[in-house]
Amino acid sequence: MSKYNKILVIGGGAAGFFAAINIRKNFPDFEVTILEQSNEVLSKVSISGGGRCNVTHACWEPKELVKFYPRGSKELLGPFHHFACGDTFAWFEGEGIPLKIEDDGRCFPESNSSQSVVHCFLSLAEKLNIKIIYSQKMRELIAPNTLSTQWQIVTNNAIHTADKIVLASGSSKSVWSILDKLGLNIIPPVPSLFTFNIKEKAMNDMMGISVSEAKISIPTAKLENRGSLLITHWGISGPAVLRLSSFGARWMHEQNYHFEIFIDWLPKASEDEIFKSIKFSGAKSVLTPQLGFPGRLWKYFVQKCKIPENLNCADLNKQQLQNLVQTLKKDPYQVNGKSTFKEEFVTAGGVDLKEIDFKNFSSKKYPTLFLAGEVLNIDAVTGGFNFQAAWTGGYLIARGVGED
Ligand SMILES: Cc1cc2nc3c(=O)[nH]c(=O)nc-3n(C[C@H](O)[C@H](O)[C@H](O)COP(=O)(O)OP(=O)(O)OC[C@H]3O[C@@H](n4cnc5c(N)ncnc54)[C@H](O)[C@@H]3O)c2cc1C
Repeated sequence: MSKYNKILVIGGGAAGFFAAINIRKNFPDFEVTILEQSNEVLSKVSISGGGRCNVTHACWEPKELVKFYPRGSKELLGPFHHFACGDTFAWFEGEGIPLKIEDDGRCFPESNSSQSVVHCFLSLAEKLNIKIIYSQKMRELIAPNTLSTQWQIVTNNAIHTADKIVLASGSSKSVWSILDKLGLNIIPPVPSLFTFNIKEKAMNDMMGISVSEAKISIPTAKLENRGSLLITHWGISGPAVLRLSSFGARWMHEQNYHFEIFIDWLPKASEDEIFKSIKFSGAKSVLTPQLGFPGRLWKYFVQKCKIPENLNCADLNKQQLQNLVQTLKKDPYQVNGKSTFKEEFVTAGGVDLKEIDFKNFSSKKYPTLFLAGEVLNIDAVTGGFNFQAAWTGGYLIARGVGED
């Protein structure tokens, strides 16, 4: 048994609980305590995935899985070979929480309730004698030094000591500033996973309409993404938008969320194919919906091109046809701000990944300090990938923490 067996986990969230539980499973002699700043633990797990908790994603190949992480893809490749989505499945099933896979690959508890995960973690914590101390906000972290071989954690009303620390405080500016003082490099936090605000009344009136596949591009930033797109009363949302916001999080922040985008409403068809399809659609009225678009949206395109609504397709001149094709393939919009995607949002930024030894998620500067979850500069698109990063980090810490 290691003689350094007093472990303090800072933060009672996804990463903290997963690390704490697995540490006690691997090392029953270790004393594990979770310090939580609020009077509630696992609050994000509770509200996650619209209350259903999108635990992971049905993506079984580490090489494929890392592609969903705008930040952390290179560093997570190794860890995912030790603990990835399939292992998450097995772990939860082993604890009596069977998971199900939805058509888009997202995985949820079969119960459809995040409370299954919360109850599972809380009852395991109790069974494994993990102490949880509430209302303990870490205010200062003092590394082992010549006066003490242990870490000292100063909270609002106590001083705790530990041989090893697991820092799982999520996106917390105050914790990042504590770590900055300890000499760890922090990448400034910016929001990720948001929807785009577009003030264009005619488009806003289309709210509720979705397109199963559109491509959004931002040529100036060399960014593009495709997937389903939802028109909302404030702009656009849907997987294509959220993924773009994730990959472009930092650039969009630099633009103060004001930039131009282009929507390709039919990414699978070429301009020529669309041109011919409309031209040869016969005597149909120009307002008759075509190319699979809902009637309201098609009318919006026609009106946007200022085409007289009484025309038939066969009567359209070349310029009118080209305008319509151009609107369908490269439709420009000005984004003016962002909105929070209420089902899931994360922060890009955190502890610089160069600071971390990804064999066990320890700090290279302080080998007895371990970090997992959103405290690190790792984040992913929506779909269960953010939790997966938290589980993987927690799991590898629970192995590495036993090494002297
Ligand atoms: C609304 C919403 C829905 C989401 N849904 C999903 C989803 O379905 N699937 C998915 O993969 N991801 C989802 N996410 C993202 C996911 O919740 C996070 O990536 C994940 O919770 C990160 O885990 P964590 O342990 O790092 O941080 P957290 O879960 O945020 O936990 C950190 C804990 O540390 C505590 N803490 C912070 N500072 C201190 C301090 N100084 N002292 C003591 N304690 C402290 C906090 O109170 C908190 O309890 C969602 C996020 C949101 C906001």
